[in-house]
Amino acid sequence: MKRVYNFSAGPSILPLEVLEKAQKELLSYADSGMSVMELSHRSKLFTEVIEKAEQDLRELMNIPDNYKVLFLQGGATLQFSMVPLNLMQNGKAGFVHTGSWSKKAIQEAEKFGEVEVIASSADRGFNYIPNLDEVEFDPELDYIHITTNNTIEGTAFTDIPDTGNIPLVADMSSNILSEAIDVNKFGIIYAGAQKNIGPAGLTIVIIREDLIGKAKADCPIMLDYKTHSESNSLYNTPPTFGIYMASLVFEWLKGLGGIEAMEAKNRKKAQLLYDFLDESDFFTTPVDKASRSFMNIPFVTPSKELDAAFIEEAKAAGLETLKGHRSVGGMRASIYNAMPVEGVELLVDVMREFEKKHHD
Ligand code: PLP
Repeated sequence: MKRVYNFSAGPSILPLEVLEKAQKELLSYADSGMSVMELSHRSKLFTEVIEKAEQDLRELMNIPDNYKVLFLQGGATLQFSMVPLNLMQNGKAGFVHTGSWSKKAIQEAEKFGEVEVIASSADRGFNYIPNLDEVEFDPELDYIHITTNNTIEGTAFTDIPDTGNIPLVADMSSNILSEAIDVNKFGIIYAGAQKNIGPAGLTIVIIREDLIGKAKADCPIMLDYKTHSESNSLYNTPPTFGIYMASLVFEWLKGLGGIEAMEAKNRKKAQLLYDFLDESDFFTTPVDKASRSFMNIPFVTPSKELDAAFIEEAKAAGLETLKGHRSVGGMRASIYNAMPVEGVELLVDVMREFEKKHHD
């Protein structure tokens, strides 16, 4: 069986152990003679799956009891609409603008009310996270939105801002479960599953209970958090297979020692690559040191031709999907939770060899 090291930004690599377990259980789950995909979402067996998924996520992230965990669909992109639809009571939200995804979130929120960009890193091509220490938040804001990890630009918040009484909403699509965070600091955390959680098609929303039930009466029923909260994510047919896969990933994470152990491993992996980038004068990364993501690491060679040649050589060595996002070019190594240390070690070896060959 051929497996490569897949550096895709999403959908991305899943733990091999998880895929193997899913493969083993694919045709007959828990001796039922049915695949998980074939189980009624209201059956006892599936109820156990979704309840265990929620319980394990709560344990992993230390989610307090006054937060609901919702298993939804529509991707993180649907949250760009659901958040303003549910939270914009005063008709005004604050956004920290840190890249392509925050731009999309802002554009969507603008359809529902006023958007105040309270800080932005657009002035330097989004290669850093703006400092919010000096920013005074308008108390009229219904919420403040941040993108904790900017998948395309390769930046991440190292400190979560204290927004006081204003609920903080975070798009955590590309770094959820990668490091320990204090859920209490957030009103809503949302993430598309297809990076650190499981297959595409599932979206996880962690929402403080007091923020539920505030949507206007004309809010479409599927876009109202209350609908999903009251029905324990079973208002309609949820993405059952995605929830099952997520539960296997959560189990895998617990087996590794939880988020703290995962974070230590992630930091080690990122350090390997950043150390090499810092010592190289051939490969460079545009991101400010203080704002570096340890999930998505963009880098370039001195020319577009060499970038293309590198991507080809890396592919031949079993390193897939290193091409940077179409909007920024170059390369990007997405090293999510499931990327083994060996994958990053091999990447650095291939980069070192390439540099030796092409550096004059
Ligand atoms: N937000 C961030 C930070 C992302 O990285 C992505 C996808 O890569 C999205 C939002 C969009 O997610 P989805 O495709 O689940 O709608």
